[in-house]
Amino acid sequence: EDAAAPPPSDPARGVENLVIIGSGPAGYTAAIYAARANLKPVVFEGYQVGGVPGGQLMTTTEVENFPGFPDGITGPDLMDKMRKQAERWGAELHQEDVEFVDVKSRPFVIRSTDREVKSHSVIIATGATAKRLRLPREEEFWSRGISACAICDGASPLYKGQVLAVVGGGDTATEEAIYLTKYACHVHLLVRREQLRASKAMQDRVLNNPNITVHFNTEAVDVVGNSKGQMSGIQLRRIDTGEESVLEVKGLFYGIGHTPNSQLLQGQIELDSSGYILVEEGSAKTSVDGVFAAGDVQDHEWRQAVTAAGSGCIAALSVERYLVSND
Ligand code: FAD
Repeated sequence: EDAAAPPPSDPARGVENLVIIGSGPAGYTAAIYAARANLKPVVFEGYQVGGVPGGQLMTTTEVENFPGFPDGITGPDLMDKMRKQAERWGAELHQEDVEFVDVKSRPFVIRSTDREVKSHSVIIATGATAKRLRLPREEEFWSRGISACAICDGASPLYKGQVLAVVGGGDTATEEAIYLTKYACHVHLLVRREQLRASKAMQDRVLNNPNITVHFNTEAVDVVGNSKGQMSGIQLRRIDTGEESVLEVKGLFYGIGHTPNSQLLQGQIELDSSGYILVEEGSAKTSVDGVFAAGDVQDHEWRQAVTAAGSGCIAALSVERYLVSND
């Protein structure tokens, strides 16, 4: 059931009700809700990830933890279904990157590669990008031995019962290492510095865990594997001595952080020190009235498809209320 009465659209299509930037689970969920509420949202899907819309899940194979799919679903299939659902209810989708946003003027101005649109409200759902090491053979083994998400992939048959490695020395990496001990037979944590940057509590948990070996002063320089894409190890280098060696592992997890895609809004709305959009707790409201944020671009903590979708729903419902109260 649609909650509020839809506010009137501008007849000459001068000013849109809502522009949504991004086509991950957050953007499409916002589009589904807004379209069902008759807001006729204009969605800029972007083409940054591999030239296709759909966001981060386009780069993965099986998604096993999105509710409603007991046998799992591939990332691209899931995103295709979300896209179709948004389209079915009348969202207007454009496979264009937004290059410029002005949220200081009213109405807001959004300019993509192909058009300029004015809108009464905006939802920013541009996601985040997992930082990569850019190893020479990284592309070859991405999603087939290399992962940036332990919660997503740890239980996969590819990694279960195997020796695994995690790269990084902060909270993300230490949490990933501990999480992976549930599935792996052993976990190696590769830390470039002489010490961990994680909180004292996380350090203690890692250093006292018999299933985790911490390698300080150590960096991964490449993946070792055969031409069929099966990983057999990683090539390591000691930072202090330059000594190289091969560590036999079947999986390499990156825990070196994410970069939120918030550059468009820099200087216009409040961001935290890492660039995540700041929203009022429990809501999608940013520091600018009428601008809402959803998904990984405002979430440095959970970063899951279902949480992104949930926040997309909150953002769209918030826009409805906002438009009604500003009518
Ligand atoms: P994203 O999915 O990051 O989408 C952002 C969108 O915004 C993209 O389409 C991008 O092109 C677009 N965009 C960015 N800038 C612009 C711009 N300027 N103009 C227009 N568009 C723009 N989560 C799970 O719950 N289960 C899993 O199994 C799982 N597996 C994962 C596997 C991998 C390899 C990765 C990387 C992540 C995985 N995740 C998983 C995490 C999940 O993908 C993210 O939490 C989720 O996609 C975040 O959704 P989002 O909508 O916030 O953003």
